[in-house]
Amino acid sequence: MESQPPLDMIAEMPAGQMDWHLARALLEWQIEMGVDECMAEAPVDRFAVEAERPKAPARAPGQAHAPETPVQPRQEIDAVEVARQAAEGAASLEGLREALAAYEHCELKRGARSLVFSDGNPAAKVMILGEAPGRDEDREGRPFVGRAGQLLDRMLAAIGLARDAEEPEEAVYITNVLPWRPPQNRDPKPEEIAMMLPFVQKHVALANPDVLILMGNISCQAALKKRGILKLRGTWAEAFGLPALPMTHPAYLLRQPHAKREAWADLLSLKARLEDRG
Ligand code: URA
Repeated sequence: MESQPPLDMIAEMPAGQMDWHLARALLEWQIEMGVDECMAEAPVDRFAVEAERPKAPARAPGQAHAPETPVQPRQEIDAVEVARQAAEGAASLEGLREALAAYEHCELKRGARSLVFSDGNPAAKVMILGEAPGRDEDREGRPFVGRAGQLLDRMLAAIGLARDAEEPEEAVYITNVLPWRPPQNRDPKPEEIAMMLPFVQKHVALANPDVLILMGNISCQAALKKRGILKLRGTWAEAFGLPALPMTHPAYLLRQPHAKREAWADLLSLKARLEDRG
């Protein structure tokens, strides 16, 4: 690999001397660090600007105030209501993807590279609701493609399911509560979950699976309004009018391999449920 100039040289380097690849790598690094807005080409010393601003002439005693321009109240946007209407208007999965792509009220969208909508077979009997894309998913635009996703594929294969299976009985369909990667993979804020919920609800209605798997705490928080995955896991609940099984997230299983035994029990419970429904 070609070596890069040290960081202090880069900082001093006029923009014209940077090649395209270096400029792009620097930009990507800033996005990774959470920068989500370009304010200006150069820093601005706001104290100096304030000091130079002409002062208002002093008022003589008894002199009346100059009439002030009335301040217009800012129109508050109800982001959840906008999401509800957008989701309601979608008549197909493709329409829902377009509605999400056009939704402008979630800050996460600005920092993300991709809209991560779904993967797998939309006709599947099993729909998996994950949490949010990570770095790999953001790069590829597909959910669960990183290490946790690879473990998920192995877990599903152990009970005869796969995201690329053609038969609905052997397939899974996968999405996340959030379609955009949160910076530094932080937990989504309650208001971010709330504005994505109408889209998730419509996503489930359009895919119309037999059962839902809620992968991890954020999915349980969104679908069941409950947290505490280690207590919730393994017990069938109801979400969006469907039987829903909370499971520990594969990312947790990578960190805590001893929890795989319980995850296996949950997979067997899913398998039995699918066989019962025949
Ligand atoms: N974790 C999730 O919950 N979803 C993904 O898509 C990737 C990791």
